[in-house]
Amino acid sequence: MDYKKLADLLLPEINSDVTEIENKYPDRGLDSNAIVTRFAPSPTGFVHLGSLFASMVAMRLARQTNGVFYLRIEDTDKKREVEGGITKIVNALSKFGIYFDEGFDKDGNEFGNYGPYLQSKREEIYKSYIKSLIEKGLAYPCFCSPEEIEKQKEEQTAKDLRVGYYGTWAKCRNLSMEDIEKNIKEGKEFIIRLKSEGDIEKFIELNDLIRGNLSLPENDQDIVLMKTNGLPTYHFAHVIDDHLMKTTHVIRGEEWLPSASLHLQLFNIMGFKAPLYAHISTIRKQDGPSKRKLSKRKDPELSMEFYEKEGYPIQTVIEYLTNLANSSFEDWRKNNPLAPLEDYNIRLDNMSVSGPLFDIVKLEDISKTIIANMNTDEVFNLYNTWAKSFDADFAKIIEDNKEYYYNIFSIERGGVKPRKDFSKWSEVKNYISYFNDELFAENLVSGYIFDNLDTRREDIINTLQNYLSLYNENDNNEEWFDKIKVITDKIGYTKDMKQYKKNPGNFKGSIADVATFIRITMTNRKNTPDLHRIMIVMGKERVEKRIHMALEFLNKMQ
Ligand code: GLU
Repeated sequence: MDYKKLADLLLPEINSDVTEIENKYPDRGLDSNAIVTRFAPSPTGFVHLGSLFASMVAMRLARQTNGVFYLRIEDTDKKREVEGGITKIVNALSKFGIYFDEGFDKDGNEFGNYGPYLQSKREEIYKSYIKSLIEKGLAYPCFCSPEEIEKQKEEQTAKDLRVGYYGTWAKCRNLSMEDIEKNIKEGKEFIIRLKSEGDIEKFIELNDLIRGNLSLPENDQDIVLMKTNGLPTYHFAHVIDDHLMKTTHVIRGEEWLPSASLHLQLFNIMGFKAPLYAHISTIRKQDGPSKRKLSKRKDPELSMEFYEKEGYPIQTVIEYLTNLANSSFEDWRKNNPLAPLEDYNIRLDNMSVSGPLFDIVKLEDISKTIIANMNTDEVFNLYNTWAKSFDADFAKIIEDNKEYYYNIFSIERGGVKPRKDFSKWSEVKNYISYFNDELFAENLVSGYIFDNLDTRREDIINTLQNYLSLYNENDNNEEWFDKIKVITDKIGYTKDMKQYKKNPGNFKGSIADVATFIRITMTNRKNTPDLHRIMIVMGKERVEKRIHMALEFLNKMQ
């Protein structure tokens, strides 16, 4: 067979000499250990926790080694395309701190020297390589119609045989030049297939950077390289792209592991050096006694909107994903509690093979620490940004009383042992609503939460009256507490907590009860941050007003 003639017949306009193309993609001139890797989604516009996880790992590895992390959009399957899909992906990832060194920006503008980064713009490039394969007798045209392929599949299934286009089932493999010429003259549509030399009985070695050495069965299918519309399949396109764009590491989901053998075969046939592979295991979840993959339908935490809506800081999500990526991260964090996350080097060989387990409780715990370590400015600004999108009413209240709320957010923040209260912005309002007079009044509709009002009403009234006369907004913590002690004595409660705990029955009550009376009066809660600080932030007028409100309530009860 004259393969050169065949190639010209099939792709007449195409230049099979790829030297010029190769020259457009020079060596990147990076250090030998630099990782060049990519995120290569279809333009579906959809990013979920799994894709964020994979791209976070890929980006960090590139940054750790002064390499390159680029975005390539794999749009050869037009069915998977969504309007504005590219910008949706870039924007969704950028919200979680994922940025590309090459590819597309948030407005969808392309940038970088190793493009185009959109596969459909690279049609000519792929065709040149395909033509070169035909010339070498490594690819051939196939005229089988989809119906014929379907029929063949049915026959294979009925006979309990492997489905596909291989061996004697590869009908167009041995067409003669005359047959081919005749088909083309008749205007029959064709695709280009790989002439696979693989043997399903044999194995190809893959040293996966996460999974270690694997033996994968060789590919013997004459897979499609180019479709009838002239576009290549993903398998072929990505091999050409990873080669030209100088990808050193392919970091992708484990769902691609079954295709890895074919991919290695294609790199071989093309005479390209194959990149290193790391197949990331899918994030799973404990569901009763069993573990399963996160599902779109059952698990809201799979979608990125969940984290935005709930108001988990970006740092939380990324730190949690780092935790899922490497089990050794936890120890590092213990030893470096305040170090920036970027100081930790992600390692592929520390990644789980069976699939990390997603645990929202753990995520929230991490989040509490992260928020506790933020300064007031950060908390105030991040909360406001969140509230503007997700709780506009409360955002307005804050906007109108900025200083008051800034002070509220400053309570027990900073210092050596900052308060660990918030895990996400959506719970902030609930934590601080009592500072707001209207929300406090709303909460009081169902009454104060004083315990044992029937026996303690007098003591509470006494406490509050004493407090009114002793209270001085300028008291420091010690002076303030001394006054609480004075009140304790006056109402006949004990300051001796040790004795009280031993024998509560011997006392009317304790200093802790006195503090609780005041706490409930101020907040109608039993647990709050530092009460003295709360009252300083509330200010004299509000404090006194709340005492009067409580007294009125208690007096009315008679
Ligand atoms: N386009 C493939 C996807 O949609 C990329 C697979 C790979 O990274 O090689 O996930």
